[in-house]
Amino acid sequence: MKPSRGAGDASSPLRGSVKPFSVEVNMSIHEQFEAVIGLEVHAQLSTRSKIFCGCSTAFGSAPNSNVCPVCLGMPGVLPVLNKQVVEYAIRLGLATGCSINPRSIFARKNYFYPDLPKGYQISQYEEPICRHGHVDITNDDGTVKRIGITRIHMEEDAGKSIHDQDHDTLVDVNRCGTPLLEIVSEPDMRSAQEAVRYLTSVWQTVKYLDICDGNMEEGSFRCDANVSVRKKGETKLGTKTELKNMNSFRNVERAIEYETQRQIELIAEGGAVVQETLLWNAEKNTASSMRSKEEAHDYRYFPDPDLVPVVVDEHWIAAVRMELPELPAVRRARFVGEYKLPPYDAEVLTQERPLADYFEGAVRVLANRNDEQVKTVSNWVMTEVMRVMNERGTTITEFPVSPDHLGALVELIGNGTISGKIAKEVFAEMVATGEHPKAVVERKGLVQISDSGAIEKEIDVILAKFPNEIARFRAGEAKLMGFFVGETMKVMKGRGNPKLINEILGRKLSELNH
Ligand code: ADP
Ligand code: MG
Ligand code: ZN
Repeated sequence: MKPSRGAGDASSPLRGSVKPFSVEVNMSIHEQFEAVIGLEVHAQLSTRSKIFCGCSTAFGSAPNSNVCPVCLGMPGVLPVLNKQVVEYAIRLGLATGCSINPRSIFARKNYFYPDLPKGYQISQYEEPICRHGHVDITNDDGTVKRIGITRIHMEEDAGKSIHDQDHDTLVDVNRCGTPLLEIVSEPDMRSAQEAVRYLTSVWQTVKYLDICDGNMEEGSFRCDANVSVRKKGETKLGTKTELKNMNSFRNVERAIEYETQRQIELIAEGGAVVQETLLWNAEKNTASSMRSKEEAHDYRYFPDPDLVPVVVDEHWIAAVRMELPELPAVRRARFVGEYKLPPYDAEVLTQERPLADYFEGAVRVLANRNDEQVKTVSNWVMTEVMRVMNERGTTITEFPVSPDHLGALVELIGNGTISGKIAKEVFAEMVATGEHPKAVVERKGLVQISDSGAIEKEIDVILAKFPNEIARFRAGEAKLMGFFVGETMKVMKGRGNPKLINEILGRKLSELNH
């Protein structure tokens, strides 16, 4: 990156002229350009069987074990469409505001590669199942931006080539025929951050819809990024490159940032962007050319004569629409409205549907629910629950503390049975044993002491024990209040009601002041 010449730059050639600098000169080269990004996302559908045959889609099976003549591309066999795939496509189409094509067509995309036994991939080309949708993203300043979805189509995945040093190239065709939805966006994103927000939204949506497990490392959710740059204010699109091989959100962001900078600097130096496909290298933090436009495939798409058009009628669409779950954005808004949660909490809690369900499950058991208690549940889920989940590497679904039990714990804090501090101890026990919080509190004798007489007795002992501290307190060291509270808590083994301790201490100390 080259430093720009700013207003105070003594060597500026414009120095001393009537108009010392224009806005443009004052802007760095990076600020004069904008990125234009369109994403192609592949979501592997979580159907049990493949798209055109009955073979299993299980991940991690022995190589070449989940195969049959259809997905191996033997001559003379016919594909039969898995209805579930169409249903999932309709689900995603409706969730993203697409119109559902009443009659879509499968096409053959022809290319030769060892992991594609048929020599063509069955996909959709001119007539995809879904078109003209959108996803709304929220930027940091709270503004909402709509990202267009050009199309969503159904296709089959190819196999996997494994490049092994000892065995050259091996091919595992288990993945051949695994159903995919390809979601193609409009070139509507203007920064890596926007692209990640869009991608996150699509990822959340497919997971909420229960159509894809969203696992980026295992490749069941993949993203190719098309990137170009242009001068701000320009409406024509620049030449794009396509980035592949990013297997995490972080890598998508870094790769787009890298490529944007590269293109801007290239153009600033008088060069031109060459249309090509780039492979992201996460270790080296660079992208290298995989193929250029000249080597680009001419896929010679044509309709697949083995498959009839996919007909989707209004009844089917209506039935799928009826069964759509509450989607992340709607749920987020509801969490803010119904539970009065800060938008940040709503965002964290709705990231994944099971986590949002867990939170709501805990809230549901609160007997006299108020906003404060709901916020306490939210805090517990976002801190303690998520911390233990991360430590143990478990999902919320297999979390040892059930939502009912967490709700009961918050209830015990709310009605003064235990203090928030003791609750942490109880929670640790609940994680270890799966017990109900009441059982833990009883077994360990952790009930909070809210008997003012008993507390007062302890406080008198403490005050008698620290005459020097009392003198300092009376001389104006107000912060010693915390010391007295701490000492009282200590002798009461953390079981004293903190509110009462504070009250009684305050009263006694002010009495001493007179
Ligand atoms: P291709 O034929 O190379 O696959 P498409 O027109 O099908 O290109 O677009 C593929 C993706 O690239 C889409 O997500 C689209 O929004 C995006 N795209 C197209 N042109 C540009 C561009 N000039 N800059 C950035 N993204 C682009
Ligand atoms: Mg493309
Ligand atoms: Zn098969």
